[in-house]
Amino acid sequence: MKLFMNENITPLQKEWFTKGAADYMNRLFNEPLSLTDDPSKADLNVEVVLDDRTKDSYVVELDGLRGSITSNTWVGALNGFYRWLEEYGVRFVRPQKAHEVIVENIKPDQRILLDVEPAYDHRGVCIEGADSFENVRDFISWLPKIGMNSFFVQFENPYSFFKRWYEHEMNPYKDKEPFDTQKAQKLSDLVDQEMEKRGIVHHRVGRGWTGEVLGYSSRFGWEKGLELPEDKKPFAAMLNNKRDLVEGAPILTSLCFSNPEVQDQMVEVITDYARDHQDVDYLHVWLSDARNNICECDKCKKERVADQYIRILNQLDERLSEEGLDTKICFLLYHELLFAPQKETLKNRERFTMMFAPITGPLKEAMRM
Ligand SMILES: [Zn+2]
Repeated sequence: MKLFMNENITPLQKEWFTKGAADYMNRLFNEPLSLTDDPSKADLNVEVVLDDRTKDSYVVELDGLRGSITSNTWVGALNGFYRWLEEYGVRFVRPQKAHEVIVENIKPDQRILLDVEPAYDHRGVCIEGADSFENVRDFISWLPKIGMNSFFVQFENPYSFFKRWYEHEMNPYKDKEPFDTQKAQKLSDLVDQEMEKRGIVHHRVGRGWTGEVLGYSSRFGWEKGLELPEDKKPFAAMLNNKRDLVEGAPILTSLCFSNPEVQDQMVEVITDYARDHQDVDYLHVWLSDARNNICECDKCKKERVADQYIRILNQLDERLSEEGLDTKICFLLYHELLFAPQKETLKNRERFTMMFAPITGPLKEAMRM
């Protein structure tokens, strides 16, 4: 069979998909598959037709092996392709090919029409735990097969999660493997490429911006035992009349957000990142990863941290617009930010997506919203 893919699908995506689709067609139907540039000669047309919706959807119309798969995003088209395979009995039980159930050598004799708009815009998972590159790659590969569209690489790169794996922290039965920042960056770039092949919506960073303002890279996650240089102390939150790192960890330290210099620096650090990483679709802008650490100075005491947060987000939106960047910003309701702002509101709602993370809430009960 001949496969045609239209111009909104990149050469990298075409090459990757042709190889993968050929494997399924061969195993399922004993049918060879190759790519054609001529849509009129194609049996299967896979097309991305762009529109201005943020929500993805797809239409599959196939009579046997002839027909089309159309979506407004590449990952949506993949959701459609794998969903079509499910009609022939394929099941993607867990990540890795070894955990797929495939019926072999069957007749492609069904007329299948699927017109699907998923219930949720955002369907994805955030990196956590201790991961090898292969773990992450296999997981990303699995996402479009089960109808998902997003992956969130926490921090600037997944250094913390790779380090836990490759150095086998807390595992007395395995020896440390060589690992450093260069290896983390190399593997991180490969993770990005795996997402790009599939058009996975790219979420990134989250925590670490507060540490960046204090001069620490977000990529080192929860590292502890550091000392705050004197010149950075005015930026740190005042706790019990002292401005310093909380537990020696930048990620746990909040800032003095009423200080205009703190606000400006945080906005600039995030704007610089967004400009340098335009492959990131949703840039997460969160505050520190701790509670009871917010600034107690006379100025900060007068308002809720959520008001200060919204002010920073509005300033960030203005700077991103000045730079012509359409990066979406994802903000987080977490710890003290679960108390709503009293004065400020988001000005450009199109820019922002809210993430609800009630870590201090009663998680044993279902949320009623
Ligand atoms: Zn303060």
